[in-house]
Amino acid sequence: MNIASSDKQSGELILGAHLSISGGLYKALEEAESLGCKALQIFTKNASTWREKTLSREEIGIFEEARKKTGIRSIAAHSAYLINLAAKDPDIRKKSRAALKQELVRCGQLGLPWLVLHAGFHMGEGEKTGIKRIVGTINHVFKQLPENPTRLLLETTAGQGTSLGSSFKQLAEMMHGISNKNRVGICMDTCHIFAAGYDISSRQSYMETMKEFDMILGINNLYVIHVNDALKQCGSRVDRHAHIGEGMIGSRGFSSLVNDPRLSKIPKILETPKKKDGKNMDPENIARLRALYLT
Ligand SMILES: [Zn+2]
Repeated sequence: MNIASSDKQSGELILGAHLSISGGLYKALEEAESLGCKALQIFTKNASTWREKTLSREEIGIFEEARKKTGIRSIAAHSAYLINLAAKDPDIRKKSRAALKQELVRCGQLGLPWLVLHAGFHMGEGEKTGIKRIVGTINHVFKQLPENPTRLLLETTAGQGTSLGSSFKQLAEMMHGISNKNRVGICMDTCHIFAAGYDISSRQSYMETMKEFDMILGINNLYVIHVNDALKQCGSRVDRHAHIGEGMIGSRGFSSLVNDPRLSKIPKILETPKKKDGKNMDPENIARLRALYLT
């Protein structure tokens, strides 16, 4: 065995999954540990309501303890789905701004390094107006929370309907407008970019897509990767996640990704369906990624 390959085998793939917080935030950490994960994604509240959640000192303490015990530090929170910073309705925009602020507050209290956000839908108002609203709101919220330690990650989207963030260029425009660059970054979702038209299913297309990503957004701005196979074809704009190797991206695409040395330090987090024929698929999808890494 040569040095390079032994290094690679002892090197660690930073894998994780989006896990449930039912029964307590700390439960997700315990589950991640039982899956052998070094990373994790959670919601810090019920993601499909506007209702806010205030964390108690006790909850924060238990979470902190579980984090120390498990040693898992690469933790992303995913923000609630109702947030739309680009909304046409001023009432929704106001609610979204308040909700984003609370998301960041909870992340800060829990000491989470990243908050993932779907930037928003322009609802027919156009890309330019939508991006302007998104940027304005983020700058406003950052100003309100000058000491917040959590980095806000804009997620690549599949481009369904009027959603913004499906092209690297759109995301670059958002990043450009945000005054404090040290507080933002990108979360790349493999299913979403593929659905948006960036092929990664072959070695060559993967290399081309990453080259474009690097040129427009910069790999140094990438902090989290959502690893999901895609049920629909490249460019479908349909956001349907599939199990690793069972979708249109396929094993070859994920092999290129997990073995890309430029991404070795970046947590790769599954958001694949939880079950298949009654079987819990998180251990299976993790095993599939590990198998690709070692080959
Ligand atoms: Zn995602």
